[in-house]
Amino acid sequence: FRKKQIPEEELVGKILAGNKTALGRAITLVESHQQDHLERAQKVIEACLPHAQRSVRIGITGVPGVGKSTFIEAFGTYLVSKGKKVAVLAVDPSSSVTHGSIMGDKTRMEKLVTMENAFIRPSPSGDSLGGVAQKTRESIVLCEAAGFDVLLIETVGVGQSETTVHSMTDFFLLLKLAGAGDELQGIKRGIIEMADLIVINKADGENQKAARDARLEFKRALNLYPPRESRWQPQVLLSSAINHQGIPEVWEEIMNYLELVQANGFFEANRHEQNKFWMLQTINEHLKKSFYQHPEIKKELQVQLKAIEQKKTSPFAAAKHLIKLWNEV
Ligand code: GDP
Repeated sequence: FRKKQIPEEELVGKILAGNKTALGRAITLVESHQQDHLERAQKVIEACLPHAQRSVRIGITGVPGVGKSTFIEAFGTYLVSKGKKVAVLAVDPSSSVTHGSIMGDKTRMEKLVTMENAFIRPSPSGDSLGGVAQKTRESIVLCEAAGFDVLLIETVGVGQSETTVHSMTDFFLLLKLAGAGDELQGIKRGIIEMADLIVINKADGENQKAARDARLEFKRALNLYPPRESRWQPQVLLSSAINHQGIPEVWEEIMNYLELVQANGFFEANRHEQNKFWMLQTINEHLKKSFYQHPEIKKELQVQLKAIEQKKTSPFAAAKHLIKLWNEV
């Protein structure tokens, strides 16, 4: 059984009209591993590009259990109530194994999923973070063409996925929990440097004092960093996502940020930098894929790996040999 193919032009027309079913279908093409689907996807993306609306792309990260899904439910429904069209995407490189370890739990976005002006899409599965990220980048274009003006891009604090999401968003929000007084230990330094806003979630019940303490501690830590290129001074706020508390304040902070960086030119400059970065990334991904998937390379790679194991060659000689072969095939 095969679904009837919709011509690309028809799909594009529906996306531009804001049709969520068409948007979902186009993203499915983007995420496909089939060559003909990918070619169709490229046509759709190209047609959509000039129509991508003005939007703000917000990255949201935090360890599992911090309350990302709950926060997105509260934040997303708030934004929709303010007249925004909200799309939620995710970058989760582990999802090919675990089948969507984040946002699998739609029950926490119960209300948002039913809203006309919200669109939620779990992470594409792929073999590499690069592959997953590229698909999300393309989905961003499609969502913007469909008129979604706030994009929430969720990721887990695993490996490089935060850096990846940071490089495709305008604003980066880090969700934290108040801990046992050692909040700043074990937190990757780079993440603090990327965060435009830290929100201490679960600031409710018995947690309130600890949350206020954590807030001070993070504020102090943030003051130790040199001024940013954006000239933005990141703040630390408290939220109770489950009670929908602290949510309007987060949006207000994002609006303040946008006002600053749109006036000083950083917003545009940053998006230009991101576009250049993503072009290079796409080339890297493509080269990597065509290298490793080439049948001759695949075969010879095994031979060389064996040779390294048997100490018959050095890693560098083996690499050189394979690259030389690549230039010849
Ligand atoms: P995620 O793994 O980061 O997406 O976290 P979830 O949104 O799934 O939340 C993990 C757990 O924390 C769930 O049991 C939520 O009900 C709970 N939770 C989320 N936000 C809050 C909050 O603001 N206060 C409290 N007390 N619990 C929360």
